Amino acid sequence: MAWYKQLHWQIIIGMVMGALYGVLAAYQGWGEFTQNWISPFGKIFLNLLKLIAMPLVLTSLICGVASLSDFKKLSRMGSKTIGLYLATTAIAVTIGLCVVNTINPGDKLPKKTVENLKAQYEADVAKRNEVADSAKERGPLQPLVDMVPDNFFGSASSNRNMLQIVFFSLLMGIALIQIQEDKRKPVFNVISGLQEVVIKIVFIIMLIAPVGVFALIANTITTLAKDGPHQIVSLLGSLGWYCAAVIIGLLIHALFVYIGLLKLFTKISVTHFLKSISQAQLLAFSTSSSGATLPVTMKCAEEKLGASKEVSSFVLPLGATINMDGTALYQAVAAVFIAQASGIDLTTGQQITIVLTAVLASVGTAAVPGAGVVMLIIILEAINVPGAGIALILGVDRILDMCRTVVNVTGDSAVNAIIASSENQLDPPPAPTT
Ligand code: ASP
Repeated sequence: MAWYKQLHWQIIIGMVMGALYGVLAAYQGWGEFTQNWISPFGKIFLNLLKLIAMPLVLTSLICGVASLSDFKKLSRMGSKTIGLYLATTAIAVTIGLCVVNTINPGDKLPKKTVENLKAQYEADVAKRNEVADSAKERGPLQPLVDMVPDNFFGSASSNRNMLQIVFFSLLMGIALIQIQEDKRKPVFNVISGLQEVVIKIVFIIMLIAPVGVFALIANTITTLAKDGPHQIVSLLGSLGWYCAAVIIGLLIHALFVYIGLLKLFTKISVTHFLKSISQAQLLAFSTSSSGATLPVTMKCAEEKLGASKEVSSFVLPLGATINMDGTALYQAVAAVFIAQASGIDLTTGQQITIVLTAVLASVGTAAVPGAGVVMLIIILEAINVPGAGIALILGVDRILDMCRTVVNVTGDSAVNAIIASSENQLDPPPAPTT
């Protein structure tokens, strides 16, 4: 097949063209035209992916749990999966802290820039603070209470309630294992049939991926450069060290931790792994949403990486909801950066608090664009740094969101491959072609 007929190449071409168009539009002042005529196609594509995320989590998790057929297997796989998710997130936060304490990007930020950024993003901060405030006012066990829905349709009405849908699906899957075979079979068949339908819909949606990605990237660039392209350049100039710290941390985590774990626990080669999940990574980069990317992450894991449906149906929807290594790492770097720029010295105790709160916050972070920055306010308050400090980083948040979402999706895929391999449910890697 000619290379340009392959979907991931078409997506890459869409991304590059979107970036080129975005830069041109920023220089020519085509912001309004882009908003009116280009950006809606990106929104349509994103809406389609989001539309399918909830049905996919629901059907996949129920089938995933029910097909495990017994409790022993469920608790073995469940504890391995959650253990690995939490461990990799804690490592990610630690890497973030090491990098930011080495580079010290906050100390390099001139006082004048701090004041300018604070004034520029005042209104944005107020909006996000409101959301964070309502989260803060709740008791310590509220996140646990929030996980348990009181109305199924209420939870299914918003993608932000994914954790509640995960809870319901696990409950339904467990109940399904326990009922008699003659009752279980038809219910299972219906749900698994629905899962097939949902996956087919993903195929259809992906046909417009190149156009969707083009529009999303073009819109991101023109929105960032709404006051002219010099705005991006000056933001990157003043926040360059901070961005570098986040990106270096993400690269270290992806290259050493994931690749190391894959080498240790599976037989798949790094290139085979990366090639298999590249479509999901590209989509994560362009949509900044691991929830919206989930359908494609699952498709890549099953069809390209060769992980069984039984494992992927359980591990990946769970991961998209609770495992966000990139987000947690970014939150650690951002928290220390803001403290440094505000002239606050963090004690070791406060840095340990960052590890704990960032791991927990990333579990509760919704898999949608910009969710990480709201949870960051809660981390900042936990270490006595004013939440208004997020004004310093909002300007570049979208760019970093794109990068951290790629790591979130890569992390889910790596853990999925490891669990599949440990359960003997990962196809052997293809023989190298000569
Ligand atoms: N956009 C991220 C995700 O969907 C969450 C975040 O860090 O804001 O994975």
